[in-house]
Amino acid sequence: MRREFSAGGVLFKDNEVLLIKNPSGVWSFPKGNIEEGETPEEAALREVYEETNVKGEILAYIGDIHYWYRLKGEKVFKTVKYYLMRYVSGEPKPSWEVKDAKFFPVEVAKKLLKYKGDKSIFEKALKMKEELKL
Ligand code: ATP
Repeated sequence: MRREFSAGGVLFKDNEVLLIKNPSGVWSFPKGNIEEGETPEEAALREVYEETNVKGEILAYIGDIHYWYRLKGEKVFKTVKYYLMRYVSGEPKPSWEVKDAKFFPVEVAKKLLKYKGDKSIFEKALKMKEELKL
């Protein structure tokens, strides 16, 4: 079994959240591989910026999600660390790695998210956002 570690962000701009449409055509959160010598926090900020052109700042760690997928027949067990982020600058512009990148109102985003892990991380992020009075 192969293992992969990525990091990403649930980035809020007022009552809107930043989503990407991944190569599978599924709306999800921006994320990507943690490179060698990089902290998960650095990777999360870099990947959000690379995939969406939006700069954020980290407010808190939300949690991890896990999933399995197949890469050329081999099973991959993936862990993604997610961080709660606040908008700093930039207009969403999808990179070549994603099909789209946009801000959506929270209620719309809830309906667009498909992956179980994403739905649960979003619920957690919304509770934290409220607690932090964002
Ligand atoms: P990264 O963005 O971390 O560099 P990647 O683009 O190489 O990763 P993933 O986004 O992990 O790869 O996608 C690999 C497979 O897993 C795809 O088939 C994708 O549809 C699926 N996938 C992506 N995110 C999730 C998720 N949160 N839950 C379940 N399956 C997912």
